Amino acid sequence: MNCTGRFAPSPTGPLHFGSLMAALASFLDSRSQSGRWLLRIEDLDPPREVPGASDNIIRTLAHYGLEWDDQVLFQSDRLSIYRKNLDALISQGLAYPCSCTRSEMKRRDALALYDGHCRTHTPRPGTQCAVRALYPAEDVQFHDRIQGNRLYPGQDGRGDFVIFRRDQLFAYQLAVVVDDAYQRVDQVVRGFDLIDETPRQIVLQKHLGLVTPSYAHIPVATNAEGQKLSKQTYAPALSDSDQDRSRNLYFALEILGQNPPAALREEAAQTILEWGVSNWHIEAVPRQPGVRPKEWS
Ligand code: GLU
Ligand code: ZN
Repeated sequence: MNCTGRFAPSPTGPLHFGSLMAALASFLDSRSQSGRWLLRIEDLDPPREVPGASDNIIRTLAHYGLEWDDQVLFQSDRLSIYRKNLDALISQGLAYPCSCTRSEMKRRDALALYDGHCRTHTPRPGTQCAVRALYPAEDVQFHDRIQGNRLYPGQDGRGDFVIFRRDQLFAYQLAVVVDDAYQRVDQVVRGFDLIDETPRQIVLQKHLGLVTPSYAHIPVATNAEGQKLSKQTYAPALSDSDQDRSRNLYFALEILGQNPPAALREEAAQTILEWGVSNWHIEAVPRQPGVRPKEWS
């Protein structure tokens, strides 16, 4: 069966060069295997959403020729499904309510790694609770198609992670796992900034009896200060001119280690994408967390 990949942006701003790299890498990885490529908008966090960002992302991808299969999936349409999965985890004892506030956790030095307090303490009545999933005592390992073998040590009663937030929003971790399975995604390609989220996603897949896809984490584009390009670091939105489209796609291929011939740079976006599909080599992608494009230094 052909593979299925996806691009799953959060609509927190317009598409920028860093997100184009993630979209392009997963697109090429799927299309080079005649696979399917899906678009999912992860709009689960209204306070962080920017009005118009979903439309901008969808329009820009289409304009770049990154065409997806099926309809766009919006996570905001799937809250009742996340609720069912959450309830199932709680009733099986694989997740539990947690009433700890930030300041309580800070006092217990449990901010970076949760100490499992509410595993054994009933939450204070009348408080709004988060829900945490159990993190296992056994190591979690996976093979990343770019970064190689990754090993995350098991936690002895620590490290239980939030799948439903205290502000009563579903957490990214739960939704991403439920939806990758629902959309039958079997090859995840995304930015290195998400690699350390992967063990928790694998744990959740086990809890829910879901298949674990393969993972590949591409280096993220950084600015001169080594920060990931994002809205917070003022990454410019991608411009729409034909010339900029070609330049951005060519440049992304170059950073992804694909070695595009210089003459391709002047070609139309569609031609550059076709070259990318025919010449995609995931083993050529640099095995490192970040890359700073030369031209920006
Ligand atoms: N929505 C997440 C983000 O924009 C990415 C999810 C994923 O690729 O797993 O950072
Ligand atoms: Zn707690």
